[in-house]
Amino acid sequence: MDCIFCKIINGEIPASKVYEDDKVIAFNDIEPQAPVHILIIPKEHIASAAEITDKNSAVVSHIFEVAAKIAREKQLDGFRIVNNCGDSAGQTVKHLHFHMMSGRDFGWPAG
Ligand code: 5GP
Ligand code: ZN
Repeated sequence: MDCIFCKIINGEIPASKVYEDDKVIAFNDIEPQAPVHILIIPKEHIASAAEITDKNSAVVSHIFEVAAKIAREKQLDGFRIVNNCGDSAGQTVKHLHFHMMSGRDFGWPAG
């Protein structure tokens, strides 16, 4: 499958890894939008948040556990987690991923 994040998972493309276990991997975004910008993704190829079902949803709670662990380890003051789902929301990579950003103030509402 021609998926850039699957290639990062199987080591075909290098990435700056922050965390890895049997279910997920976290790595630094190549084009950071904040001083800390980590992508947390399932190792299973799920195309987007719209493809989450009762069969594959457990990994999502695990991703949030991993985010909290990373925040503790890096002693982050606060963080924002973003998921873009679909073209209109700005999803460019069609493999489920959560952006974890920290190190600056974030506006709300998001544009
Ligand atoms: P999306 O726009 O789909 O929500 O987010 C995709 C993210 O993946 C973007 O922030 C982009 O910078 C990041 N990205 C795309 N290709 C690569 C890559 O090869 N390596 C890394 N580390 N990040 C990537
Ligand atoms: Zn993939």
